[in-house]
Amino acid sequence: MSPRTTRSSTRSSIFGAPARGTLDPSARGVVDYALARRAALFDLAAGRSRPADVCDAQTYLLRAAHYHGEPLDQPCPVCRRDGLTSVTYTYGDCFRNDVNGRARRTGELVALAREFAEFSVYVVEVCPQCRWNHLVTSYVLGTGEPARRQARS
Ligand SMILES: [Zn+2]
Repeated sequence: MSPRTTRSSTRSSIFGAPARGTLDPSARGVVDYALARRAALFDLAAGRSRPADVCDAQTYLLRAAHYHGEPLDQPCPVCRRDGLTSVTYTYGDCFRNDVNGRARRTGELVALAREFAEFSVYVVEVCPQCRWNHLVTSYVLGTGEPARRQARS
């Protein structure tokens, strides 16, 4: 099953809708990974995959969730414990190498979108208890103007 592109974020599943936060209205190229997430959870529930297959968050991701994650208002879809966290990463040629791929607070995105021409945003949900992790959505932000070579931030 492949993820599909949609602007809709109102669907829910029997496993609970993944939280996306409030998507910036200027977001483009939005890809919603809800179907892929649901398939991963179905496979786990049906015994077609093992918890070790889907609960494999690496130390770097767990650390990002601890320091930069934003708590989600729903339990982990695998272990049902609290603490499910959303981590938002930004990638783009506009960023300096040392901050490209950095975890950001969603509150930072508005200012970045006004300052830079184009960068990609990836939102991952992470459970620090059982290490479940899944890409929730990705999209592109930025002014859309031709890129100026001023890598920073
Ligand atoms: Zn969990």
